[in-house]
Amino acid sequence: MTATDTPPQHPRIAWQTGRVRTIVAETSRVKSIILQPASWSGHWPGQHVDIRLTADDGYQAERSYSIASPPEEKLLTLTVERIEDGEVSPYLLDELRLGDALEFRGPIGGHFIWSQTRGGPICLVAGGTGITPLMAMLRHRKRSLAHIPASLIYSARSLADVIYRDELDTMARGDCDLRLVYALTREHPSNWNGHPGRVTETLLVENSFTPAQNPTFFVCGPTGFVESISSMLVKLGFDPFTIKTERFGPSGG
Ligand SMILES: Cc1cc2nc3c(=O)[nH]c(=O)nc-3n(C[C@H](O)[C@H](O)[C@H](O)COP(=O)(O)OP(=O)(O)OC[C@H]3O[C@@H](n4cnc5c(N)ncnc54)[C@H](O)[C@@H]3O)c2cc1C
Repeated sequence: MTATDTPPQHPRIAWQTGRVRTIVAETSRVKSIILQPASWSGHWPGQHVDIRLTADDGYQAERSYSIASPPEEKLLTLTVERIEDGEVSPYLLDELRLGDALEFRGPIGGHFIWSQTRGGPICLVAGGTGITPLMAMLRHRKRSLAHIPASLIYSARSLADVIYRDELDTMARGDCDLRLVYALTREHPSNWNGHPGRVTETLLVENSFTPAQNPTFFVCGPTGFVESISSMLVKLGFDPFTIKTERFGPSGG
């Protein structure tokens, strides 16, 4: 896909099927499902797809899942967390097998997107699986070899709950323009030098950019997390129009 400043318009997005090519266990509660779409016109980092499941009696359930893979890849990666009493996520994690056909439509979303042509600096703030669309942005940034200053502040329960941890650590080690900090809310190793507890204003100030640098923020996670971070950023003097948000609250019907 060629990146320009305007996201592609899809007046009517048709349902299609993708074959499950690979399933990767990311953490005890999260798996990545890598799909081979029948046809794909490309996507922007930050966009999502809708998944549709159909039961034998015709009952259907739809849920949204962000695309974790960068536009440079032909396969689509979705990263799904188990919601214990959920309808769709337990099926995707427990029942889906390699070679299965999964019905989906997309890409969807034109606001929460970033590409290297938009430049930086960018500050990404993730809560749990909210890392997924932000990972597409970081993977795209890495592929495009653009030295765009970026920062990722990632809140998870523990180190074991950090999704894509090896890839993120490797990415940050090899890139002096990328700052990475984990905020671990429930448990952290005793000799660990990251941030214990929730994301705070101080953490944002220390690991983000100044208002004068005019960063764009991408904040993604559960609704409460996104609202709390957005309020802090506005209080810290950042322009609300530079704060882009995506909420992972209940979505289907
Ligand atoms: C734009 C968008 C992108 C999303 N991307 C992702 C993604 O990349 N990965 C991912 O795992 N999820 C993502 N989600 C959330 C996803 O769409 C589903 O809501 C989630 O998988 C739960 O679906 P379910 O059918 O298993 O649970 P449901 O049957 O919908 O819900 C069962 C119970 O869990 C609660 N619940 C539902 N969703 C959540 C949630 N996210 N957190 C906590 N409690 C919840 C409900 O209130 C209900 O009590 C995204 C949502 C949106 C709107």
